[in-house]
Amino acid sequence: MAHLPTPAPHEAVHLIEDPETGLHGVIAIHSTALGPAAGGCRLWQYDDDAAMLADALRLARGMSYKNALAGLPFGGGKAVIRMPATLPSRARLFAAFGRAVAGLGGAYVTAEDVGTTTADMAEVRAKTRFVAGLPARPGQAGGDPSPWTALGVFVAMEAAARSLGTGLSGLRVAVQGVGQVGAALCTLLHEAGARLVVADADAARAAAVAARFGADMVSPGAIIAADADIFAPCALGGALDRQTIAALRARLVCGAANNQLATPEDGARLAERGILYAPDYVANAGGIINVAAEYLGEAADAVEARVRAIGPRMALILVRAGECGETPAAVADAMAEAIMAEGRAGLGRT
Ligand code: NAD
Repeated sequence: MAHLPTPAPHEAVHLIEDPETGLHGVIAIHSTALGPAAGGCRLWQYDDDAAMLADALRLARGMSYKNALAGLPFGGGKAVIRMPATLPSRARLFAAFGRAVAGLGGAYVTAEDVGTTTADMAEVRAKTRFVAGLPARPGQAGGDPSPWTALGVFVAMEAAARSLGTGLSGLRVAVQGVGQVGAALCTLLHEAGARLVVADADAARAAAVAARFGADMVSPGAIIAADADIFAPCALGGALDRQTIAALRARLVCGAANNQLATPEDGARLAERGILYAPDYVANAGGIINVAAEYLGEAADAVEARVRAIGPRMALILVRAGECGETPAAVADAMAEAIMAEGRAGLGRT
């Protein structure tokens, strides 16, 4: 496995290639200060290798911060695989990926992410034990992490709404992307008495969710400016940039997508418009909390309380942001960096 030049502060970037199966991607390790670098494997149609690498680096960094703030004994890493032009055997592709993960000897622990499934991770498991996100076994933590991610986003949203002096009942929430997490979040919001407006790149999926919850449906291009109190980005990253922030009508942003802010300045742009931002990696940690419990062989009932703890954690971050006049994103970053620095100090690293 080739090592690529590693931009600081990442610890390593490994090129993973297997021409026979079409495997072409990278495993980026941002930090192992708190434990093995944990983060899912994304299978995606990148325009070029530079885009693929940039995504891996950004996502790996995000995982370090997410794992640190969630109190997990893991660092941060991410695998990305470029979707091959033809994919003769998905099973063989993930077997080859599993061999690549095995080659890192436990420095990186993988799981599913956008474009990959529990079935893919079962192929990986045949080659290495450094994997989670497998089909659940009775009584054990595991299985699809999406419902846990949705629960974490929901309790984060409740906490953020409370900090604005309101509950969720009667509020209108615009959900961008009603896939695994977005649809599960809609269920929780509906049960809590929120009104929904949904959009998805897959119109049939959006229509099905809208019908189930009596929600309004708008086009993907219209969801940002939908008449809503809360905007929940649950599609892909980068939903919040100069243009979309200018168009937002919601006063709170809280969703599941990773890397919602296109640039760090977008956190300040939201604050300038008086829009409260619930940092993405704090809100969406439910999935990795479940995955970590699975990897560590814990019981299923260990997971819920940890996921629900996302609510008070979000409340604390928002209170601190209010007190010190920093954006919630900056406060969360500083808290995560302090935890990682403690981990490095414990290992005698600077
Ligand atoms: P998913 O693929 O099941 O759902 C994403 C949905 O977004 C799809 O229905 C897709 O059609 C839709 N979509 C894509 N582009 C869109 C656009 N421009 N406008 C509207 N809809 C669009 O993925 P998921 O597992 O639900 O994850 C959603 C997001 O949450 C991703 O960013 C993922 O990285 C993040 N996340 C997921 C988990 C998890 O447990 N699944 C954990 C943490 C973070």
